[in-house]
Amino acid sequence: SGKWARAMAILREFEEKCGTPSGKLRQVADAMTVEMHAGLASEGGSKLKMLISYVDNLPTGDEKGLFYALDLGGTNFRVLRVVLGGKDDRVVKKEFEEVSIPPHLMTGSSDALFDYIAEALAKFVAKEGEGLHPSPGQQRELGFTFSFPVRQTSIASGNLIKWTKGFSIEDTVGQDVVGELTKAMERVGLDMRVAALVNDTIGTLAGGRYCNQDVIAAVILGTGTNAAYVERAQAIPKWHGLLPKSGEMVINMEWGNFRSSHLPLTEYDQALDVESLNPGEQIFEKIISGMYLGEIVRRVLLRMAQEADFFGDVVPPKLEIPFILRTPHMSAMHHDTSSDLKVVGSKLKDILEISNTSLKMRKAIVNLCDIVATRGARLSAAGIVGIIKKLGRDTVRDGEKQKSVIALDGGLFEHYTKFRISMESTLKELLGEEVSESIVVEHSNDGSGIGAALLAASHSQYL
Ligand code: ADP
Ligand code: MG
Repeated sequence: SGKWARAMAILREFEEKCGTPSGKLRQVADAMTVEMHAGLASEGGSKLKMLISYVDNLPTGDEKGLFYALDLGGTNFRVLRVVLGGKDDRVVKKEFEEVSIPPHLMTGSSDALFDYIAEALAKFVAKEGEGLHPSPGQQRELGFTFSFPVRQTSIASGNLIKWTKGFSIEDTVGQDVVGELTKAMERVGLDMRVAALVNDTIGTLAGGRYCNQDVIAAVILGTGTNAAYVERAQAIPKWHGLLPKSGEMVINMEWGNFRSSHLPLTEYDQALDVESLNPGEQIFEKIISGMYLGEIVRRVLLRMAQEADFFGDVVPPKLEIPFILRTPHMSAMHHDTSSDLKVVGSKLKDILEISNTSLKMRKAIVNLCDIVATRGARLSAAGIVGIIKKLGRDTVRDGEKQKSVIALDGGLFEHYTKFRISMESTLKELLGEEVSESIVVEHSNDGSGIGAALLAASHSQYL
């Protein structure tokens, strides 16, 4: 019928606008490299903040002792206790707990959020087992993974630039987040020193390097997206401090805020951005990361319902609710292998209260998930190629067999198989066969927690 044709026309037009042929991805990768240079040249020189992490030494394996880590990055936070045994024994013990953040705390007051975190941490510390206590008279030390843009002032201090990923707490912006946490720990009576403040990308890079000496960069694909890599200190014109002994400095790119005229943006992305908590910001993140992919699918489906009666005469009311369709739901529909696409059918029913969908409709919806996931995956690969180019590792120097390992983490990478496969094959497509052999993507499972603990260890007050 005419209505079906109209719905398919909406879908095909969206697909066309989402197109990411290799040529376009190369332009995106080149733009990423250009912005990296600009962000390193001067403060505010680029959409890419290229933040200096104050991490100029990555873990060696010699780290020893009991350390805590706290990972705050999205809807959950994790507390972690590790015992490091040095070169031979490595991670002797690792215990963790995950705590969810009540949504009202994500947009409330700074004190309320940090009190909640400090209380959960204090409870976790209280469960320290036999032989797991700090030496008498010593303070417990913590690596604080805080995955929002922070302008660091030292390894253990930094001011929040802005919230992202659905957090919006005005009184934290501009504050030292270590100070906020430390004050909250004092309020709940927990005696602990923050030894290192790191972004999750930095934590993942540190955790990755601990396991594999060839790790040179880390990328997070979770609720949000970001990347960090090891830069030559000499190549950071905006750094006016002493050159570190190692000659290196880890840079937190904050690549979620990347944007370029080469990005394939659609009217749906524009509307999502305008209606978001942070309009005009985090444009790369809004087309790639887990917080947004399901929402993009919802917006296209809503248009198909409104303008082409895709779900019948009435627009399903649930479909009008922002963020109701989450990326894990989208992923489940996308991976449905049953002949009648029954997972798609049941997701539509359970989440959107839409029943009686035909196989033809379900197929169109799987196609829509594929378009959105593929664009995100291919653009992530282009971003990684941008980093590889910046490091001059996009060509094989004759005879050299130096591996470049990228540590990847985050729920999207971990659980959205089709996304991960598309990202990895796009890397090969862009780098070519020969270079691809030297570039390895490695899943760094919860490297960021261990990484933060390792960095706390190497910045301990007792060294
Ligand atoms: P964060 O980024 O908040 O620190 P994670 O790295 O655990 O946390 O990522 C969580 C995100 O991963 C979720 O917001 C969701 O978008 C995505 N995710 C989780 N599970 C799945 C899944 N099964 N399929 C697709 N995406 C998923
Ligand atoms: Mg995380």
